[in-house]
Amino acid sequence: MSLTDLMTMAKSNKMLQRQILSQLWEVHPDECFQCMRCTSGCTSLKLLELKPHEIVLLTNSGFVEELVSSDIIWTCASCLKCRERCPQKASPYNTIMALRNLAVEREAKVPEVYMKVVAQILETGLMQQVKMVTSREMQPLNRKKLGLPKIQCPDDKFKSSFMKALGG
Ligand code: SF4
Ligand code: SF4
Repeated sequence: MSLTDLMTMAKSNKMLQRQILSQLWEVHPDECFQCMRCTSGCTSLKLLELKPHEIVLLTNSGFVEELVSSDIIWTCASCLKCRERCPQKASPYNTIMALRNLAVEREAKVPEVYMKVVAQILETGLMQQVKMVTSREMQPLNRKKLGLPKIQCPDDKFKSSFMKALGG
């Protein structure tokens, strides 16, 4: 069942709405006036089943439960464009992050790609694998050739702090 179908049966939950808004002290989704500037610049628009301004509207209307249990909140690319474009500091990005946090708190299924990033950070301390680059002459370059120091793997202190920050 799609999220849009689910919404036809949805019930507003003001307690969850207040919980989300209370986490957003920096931005004010309740000030959104639906101008859609966020949506017109959204990087993930084609992938999102609901548009950023609709996510803010549904959150403000208390349909948090449905958003938290859907895949939609994991599709945002975290590019922050909506935050930059918003004239009201309503920032769909921050609302989506608060919805993700609530989903994790509730032990909802986190997409595999995020779990891979966590494993990668634990192993190497980096969000992405180091990639081979080439010079303009198409010669392969590595860190040593570029005079860059060797990448240090994270120590146990980093790992335990990281896991603590994740609530593990
Ligand atoms: S979140 Fe901001 S940019 Fe998007 S519709 Fe609301 S006021 Fe407009
Ligand atoms: S942060 Fe997410 S919702 Fe906002 S513009 Fe980027 S992809 Fe779209």
